[in-house]
Amino acid sequence: MSVKAVKLIQPGEIQGMPDDDTPLLVVVNAAETFRARADRMHVLSAQQSDSPWLAFCAQLMQAQVDCLGSVTPQPLDENVVRESMIHKLPPLSITTWLPESQWSVVFNALSEALEAMPLAPGVRGALERLKQTAVADQIRQAKALLAADDSALPADAVPFIGAALQLLWASQSKTLSAFVELHKGESGLCPVCGSHPVASVVRVGERDLHRYLICSLCASEWYAPRARCTNCETPKEVSMLGDTRDSALQGECCEVCRGYLKIMFQAKEPLIDAVADDLASISLDLALSAEGFSRTGRNLFFTVGQADTTQT
Ligand SMILES: [Zn+2]
Ligand SMILES: [Zn+2]
Repeated sequence: MSVKAVKLIQPGEIQGMPDDDTPLLVVVNAAETFRARADRMHVLSAQQSDSPWLAFCAQLMQAQVDCLGSVTPQPLDENVVRESMIHKLPPLSITTWLPESQWSVVFNALSEALEAMPLAPGVRGALERLKQTAVADQIRQAKALLAADDSALPADAVPFIGAALQLLWASQSKTLSAFVELHKGESGLCPVCGSHPVASVVRVGERDLHRYLICSLCASEWYAPRARCTNCETPKEVSMLGDTRDSALQGECCEVCRGYLKIMFQAKEPLIDAVADDLASISLDLALSAEGFSRTGRNLFFTVGQADTTQT
């Protein structure tokens, strides 16, 4: 794929925060989110049927759906949640809240769901190695992935750990639905858990044309003004680079920090899913990297430079 600048939005254009009742934070229903994501990944994998990596991602997302019933949200202290939201601290912070007691339940359920599938030998071997790892070391690796400390992680363990962490956080975030209106203003990181976004999506329907950042971990969506770099928040214009002017998925590139985040237009692809479509558009990452831009979004199924590690 070659990329070219297809659009340039000037500062001031759709750049401010909404002054109506457009929600600034949306927490997800985990069952609906994982179901839709797995369905989308299945379609994308079929479109790129020569990719064992995407086929594996589709299996992993299906396993997330299959074992969701094993995940029990933990009771939260409502006062702590309320105070955290008011003071702009993520109530399910990746630095302070890790449901360690739930880790093995969720990881074992995910493993069982996967093992019931026709896995490629390399995938089965990688899963087996992680299962043989002491629980304390599994949790240490999970914390390293949350902290983006990639050097402390075996590459082939990353997707399994990332999928289990998504289950833990996404199933919990619904318990915050009574508090979402306490979130005000802007943030480059998830107001619920403090993680990086995977991408942004310009929504349709009730949130028509509003752009939301999508959390790579808990799947919460929070409002982000368009035409602004979500990495360095420079007020300068950003460039949109994609394979065509009408692409549903483009790279929003910042000339100041040289970072980019994918932006997806739901109006052009109604079923687009930030995590699944990110995985299926590695060619855009390669093209933008060749243009000198660095990825600022995170996807917990791989660490940068480590995609494709579980093939065959
Ligand atoms: Zn989050
Ligand atoms: Zn920037």
